[in-house]
Amino acid sequence: MLDVPRSLYSLAGSDLEQILDSCGFPRVHAARLLKYVYREGICSPWDMRDLPATLRSRLEDAITADELTVCSEVQSSDGFTRKYLLGLADGCRVETVLMHFRERATACVSSQVGCAMGCVFCATAQMGLVRQLTAGEIVQQVVHANHELTEQGQPQLRNVVLMGMGEPLHNYDAVMKAISILCEPAGLALAPRHITLSTVGVIPGIIRLADERQLVNLAVSLHAATQEERAKLVPVARAWPLDELIAACRHYADKMERRIFFEWALIDGQNDSAEQATTLGQLLHGLPSHVNLIPLNPIANYDGTPTSRDSAKRFQAILAKHDIPSTIRQRRGIDIAAGCGQLAVKNEARKWLAR
Ligand code: SAH
Repeated sequence: MLDVPRSLYSLAGSDLEQILDSCGFPRVHAARLLKYVYREGICSPWDMRDLPATLRSRLEDAITADELTVCSEVQSSDGFTRKYLLGLADGCRVETVLMHFRERATACVSSQVGCAMGCVFCATAQMGLVRQLTAGEIVQQVVHANHELTEQGQPQLRNVVLMGMGEPLHNYDAVMKAISILCEPAGLALAPRHITLSTVGVIPGIIRLADERQLVNLAVSLHAATQEERAKLVPVARAWPLDELIAACRHYADKMERRIFFEWALIDGQNDSAEQATTLGQLLHGLPSHVNLIPLNPIANYDGTPTSRDSAKRFQAILAKHDIPSTIRQRRGIDIAAGCGQLAVKNEARKWLAR
């Protein structure tokens, strides 16, 4: 038996099987446990009625089920985006966003409290890195979003993006563990192809994803198509230069036989010129890709403003001439500060003001 209780949400089926083994129960109970937790929302072993009573009492000692607390929640005026500030057991807070788009709901979850990457236009970067999230804390955000959906009578959550606070490839093991738990067939049973991981461009992480053949979608936050311009917006580009990043992306695309999504926050007068669109078109030549053009979400302490609709369209048209598909993303939830880290930072500011 284990010395220290483990967090229920950080256990994959194989971990549950090990726990069952160690207390002399058949492994088949692992799938039942996952069903209880992820399909019925029952986290206390004691309430898992069709498990033997002796097993339930052993499990009570072996696992803990910390719940996230909802510290605040806001809904966008168009009703499509709901953003939650969720409290962790140690008082840290992370953001989770639930977006409705046509028939589809997507949860955007955080991978770290704060972030160490320092992108100049990102609210989370202003907090610095506070700590890594555990796999269980990442999973719990998805569980929360799914619960919110099903409470509203909607079908189960199918899509998850790791585009909330933090850099997922700077917390690789916990993120991949969380993904494997979310994909457990007896649990939420998400499909890896419905999960997208967004990175600032952590090259060793991209190579590792390819080498491990992780089947999630990859998005790379590019924002500029020359090393000099990129380093101004994304300071970690100094450690992971653009040419090496693109080489890593080509390696990934070859090995995985997949396209890569590139994120481009369009900032007026900074990275939205016709020339920059042409340079991007050349940079991505021959690389299976899709570019997501996202007019900047304005934040405090950064004076950049979003590109106009016309400039965004012009940028898109130039990419099309280079045979590069792109989408101009609606800035969903802009009125509720749904950009990365914006709600958390706003709340911190309020806390400070209240002192
Ligand atoms: N660290 C990861 C994932 C978190 S941010 C990454 O960098 O990809 C998710 C996306 O939101 C990234 O593309 C990021 O650059 C973008 N983003 C952050 N702040 C933004 C803002 N104010 N306006 C528009 N996009 C922003």
